[in-house]
Amino acid sequence: MAKVAFIGLGNMGGPMVLNLLKAGHDCAVFDLSADAMKAAGDAGATLAGGPGEAARCVDVVVSMLPAGKHVRGVYEGEGGVIENASAGTLLIDCSTIDVASARAVGAAAKAAGLPMVDAPVSGGTAGAAAGTLTFMVGGPEEAFTAAKPFLDIMGGTIVHAGDSGNGQAAKICNNMLLGITMLGTCEAFMLAKRLGLDAQKLFDISSKASGQSWSMTSYCPVPGPVPTTPANRDYQPGFAAAMMLKDLKLAQEAAAQVDAATPLGSAAESLYSLFCNAGNGGMDFSGIIKMIDGDA
Ligand code: NAD
Repeated sequence: MAKVAFIGLGNMGGPMVLNLLKAGHDCAVFDLSADAMKAAGDAGATLAGGPGEAARCVDVVVSMLPAGKHVRGVYEGEGGVIENASAGTLLIDCSTIDVASARAVGAAAKAAGLPMVDAPVSGGTAGAAAGTLTFMVGGPEEAFTAAKPFLDIMGGTIVHAGDSGNGQAAKICNNMLLGITMLGTCEAFMLAKRLGLDAQKLFDISSKASGQSWSMTSYCPVPGPVPTTPANRDYQPGFAAAMMLKDLKLAQEAAAQVDAATPLGSAAESLYSLFCNAGNGGMDFSGIIKMIDGDA
């Protein structure tokens, strides 16, 4: 069994480390939150006093942090992972962060002789608890191969997307598309309602026709057609609108850096900003249909 350091024990990291512990790995953990540390300690993890202390003498470091600045601090900062890990230690950052930060940390790790992958996830807290997350992985082939057995414990689908930063690129491209298709689906249901077309009828047709998308068939934003979606529980998340906005902002930031015109992604970012600024950030992202429908 391996020695693993896990840094960032929030809504996602908390359940992810439990799966590593259940698989029999020795886990040293660190989080700024005393409550999160206590929960991991109660589950059998060793508590470390900082990221560097956690990363010393382990085989693998896994992190699940809010944003690029936290990841850079934890890895590159004084007393951080890169300064303290032994040469050859494998680094796996599962946070969703900007592509540029992911590539900068990957390069700093490489310079220190530490193989690293960026491995952001989709699947949310339910996937983290069930160990069924999808991992989108960027980094060298050997680092991917070494990371895969650990990712297999926490996830169901593991895809190597290419070099350092490409996991993050895959994540933001996918989620930009998701935001756009959700908004398009919401518009279609809103228009149908005003034209006197029943939502179930639109679903029966579009879910089998050329308007089909995951936002329609698996995450339908109106109650009824797909009973398991957040629309049927007053838009309790699910995937919170604030998280969608974070990913849309990352997509716009990345697009600006490479001169990519993403007008629909930009519109989606503006619409989710309006929705979140109106106090709806905690609602499921499909709840934006209320705003599209003039009801939020
Ligand atoms: P969270 O805010 O619940 O957890 C983040 C944790 O990091 C907190 O416990 C916080 O105390 C800790 N932390 C912050 N700075 C730290 C530092 N310097 N050292 C140690 N710990 C530190 O967030 P989350 O929902 O677990 O999300 C984590 C990442 O996963 C984010 O990048 C998010 O975008 C991504 N993500 C989340 C979801 C989701 O459904 N929650 C889904 C997919 C991806």
